[in-house]
Amino acid sequence: QNVANQISAGEVIERPASIVKELIENSIDAGAENIEIKIEDGGRELIKVKDDGHGIQVDDIESAFNRYATSKIEDIDDLYSLYSLGFRGEALASIASVAEVEMISRHQDSDQAEKIKIKGGEVINKKPIGSTVGTEITVRDLFYNTPARYKYLKTTTTEFSHISKIVSAEATANSNLSFKLFHDGRQILSTPGNGKLKDTIYAVYGSEIADNLIPIEVEDRYIKLSGYLCRPELTRSSRSHELFFVNGRPIFNNLTARAVETAYNKLIDPGRRPIVFLFIKVNPILVDVNVHPAKREVKFSRSQIIFDVIKKAVRKTLKENDP
Ligand code: ADP
Ligand code: MG
Repeated sequence: QNVANQISAGEVIERPASIVKELIENSIDAGAENIEIKIEDGGRELIKVKDDGHGIQVDDIESAFNRYATSKIEDIDDLYSLYSLGFRGEALASIASVAEVEMISRHQDSDQAEKIKIKGGEVINKKPIGSTVGTEITVRDLFYNTPARYKYLKTTTTEFSHISKIVSAEATANSNLSFKLFHDGRQILSTPGNGKLKDTIYAVYGSEIADNLIPIEVEDRYIKLSGYLCRPELTRSSRSHELFFVNGRPIFNNLTARAVETAYNKLIDPGRRPIVFLFIKVNPILVDVNVHPAKREVKFSRSQIIFDVIKKAVRKTLKENDP
């Protein structure tokens, strides 16, 4: 069983940042309003995610670590709908197969929390404990039993930059939730959770970007765009600040990036990349989710339409705001 979980973990857990993403999404799914993430040594020492969501019932705590354990699939169609993007019921099992995991969870209907410790997929400790409503998961000694994969980890700085990128995107996608991120005891990020995208961008990406935003708002038959574009004077050398959210989830998609870059073309220097925070709402039937668990890539089934709508909308918005 643990071998199967380890194999699955290979798909799911490329690096510490993949764990962070899965844990954050679980906290969001649990209705959390505050999510606190603590990282040590780029995640290889420690990853801790604490939320104030609804928590897990005592009787369900152990089974949450079983493979394919999920409380989230309603029917099979759900698997193909973007609203439940991601793989189902494999994250905790996979993480617990390649690290030491401790979970403290108190369900909202319970007056006591339960603490469980799992290593190599085996429960090594389980007992009641006092805690507030919500869930805290601590992951230590990542890849302790898969040395080949441990060796594959990059430097602390690189691994943490992947984590920071994911937390930044999730915080931006969920401006109604407050995120805090710490690395080796230092606070790196803190968002207000007031539901205002601009305030969240300010908190995450800083004042220079936040002070140069142009709102975009376009509705078409097929898709709805909203969010912010950054003035073309402000650019980056990579796609690091091209953020796309499809139906509320951060995604990677080459098509949307190219559409935006085409619209910015000639306004920015060759080799430079624009800064955008683009929320794309589409009917889920127009989206094929690549169900590969780690890479949240999506494919649009009417990709030419999506490309054109984005390109035109961005170009028009930039033109209207040309000083
Ligand atoms: P999935 O998220 O696909 O259901 P996971 O392995 O990530 O699978 O989690 C397994 C189950 O554990 C979830 O379905 C949920 O019931 C429970 N769970 C995990 N994390 C949390 C959390 N932070 N708060 C409440 N329940 C959680
Ligand atoms: Mg999950």
